[in-house]
Amino acid sequence: MKDAPAPTRIVVLGSINMDLVGVATRFPSAGETVVGESFHTSPGGKGANQAVAAARLGADVKMVGRVGADTFGPPLLANLESHGIDVEAVARDPGNATGVAMILLDSRGENRIVVVGGANAACADEQLAETEKALQGTHALLLQLEIPAEVSLAAARIAKELGVRVIWDPAPAGKFPAEAYAATDILTPNESEATSLTGIEVTDERSATAAAEVLLSRGLSVAVVTLGQQGAVYASKEGNGFMAPFQVNAVDTVAAGDAFGAGLAVALSEGMSLDAALRFGSAAGALAVTRSGAQEAMPTRHDVDALLNHP
Ligand code: ADP
Repeated sequence: MKDAPAPTRIVVLGSINMDLVGVATRFPSAGETVVGESFHTSPGGKGANQAVAAARLGADVKMVGRVGADTFGPPLLANLESHGIDVEAVARDPGNATGVAMILLDSRGENRIVVVGGANAACADEQLAETEKALQGTHALLLQLEIPAEVSLAAARIAKELGVRVIWDPAPAGKFPAEAYAATDILTPNESEATSLTGIEVTDERSATAAAEVLLSRGLSVAVVTLGQQGAVYASKEGNGFMAPFQVNAVDTVAAGDAFGAGLAVALSEGMSLDAALRFGSAAGALAVTRSGAQEAMPTRHDVDALLNHP
C-alpha cells in the first residue's frame, strides 16, 4: 500500500463572499420588476474557493481575510471549517458588510453580476500581520485580486523572503501592480486576464504562449495562461509548455480557475515537477466544470487521482 503524502500547508489570503443567486426567465430592464423563478445562496469568493479546493485536495489550509459581523459571516466561517480549514485568522469586521456577489441568471444561462467587496475591501495591516504569522512553515501562499492589491503585494514580498512559493491568480481582471511580478513565483491568468495584462489578444495556444512569455519577462518564475477547454500553456526560465485539457462533460465552468490554481499549489507543495503539477491542476480544473456551483463543485483528492490514473 502506498503511504498517504504528508500534509502540505497552504495559506490563502483573499476574499470570502456569499453568492446570492436569483434566476428569472429574463433580466429586468431599468425600473422594471420581473418575477423570478428561484433563489439560493452559496459560499463564494475567489479566496475561499481556492481554500476549499486546496483542502479537498488534501492540504492543511489556513484562510486569512475578513467577513462582516452580519448574518452572512457566521455561515461562511462554518462552511470553511466544515472543510477543515483553519479560520482563526479570519477577522469579524463590525464596520463592514460581508462581501457578496449578486448574481442574476436568465433562462439562457447568461448572467449579470454585481460584486460588493464589503469586508474584503477592508483587508489591511491586520490581515498582513496574520498572513506573516501563518506563513511560518508553509509551502505556498495563494493570492487573487478581490482584496486590495497592495495588501496582497506586501504579503507576497514577505512570503518570498521566507522562501514560501507565491501563486497569484490575477482574477478578476483588474489592476495587478507592476511591482508584484518580482514578488510572485507563478502567475495564473485566464485568457481575458492575460489579454488585459499584456495587450495581446489571447485566444489560442499560440497567443497564450506569447502572452506568457511577456509576463515571464516581467520577473516571474513561471507564467501560466489558462485557456478553459483548450487547456493551459506556460512559460518558464527552463522553457515553454502546453497542458492538454482532460476530456470531460462540462456542466458549469464557474471556479475552474480556482480549482486549477489550488491543484497546482498542492501538487508543487508535495514536490511534484512543474509538468506533473500542471497536469494535477488541469485535472482539478476539469473536474470542477463537471459539477455546478463553485465550492460544491471542487473535486476531492480521490477524484483527481482517479482522473490522472484513467484520463
Ligand atoms: P477561469 O475559471 O479562471 O476562467 P479556465 O476556464 O481557463 O479558468 O480553467 C482553468 C483550467 O481548468 C483550464 O486551463 C483547464 O485545465 C481546466 N478546464 C477548464 N474548463 C475546462 C473544460 N471545459 N474541459 C477540460 N478542462 C477544463
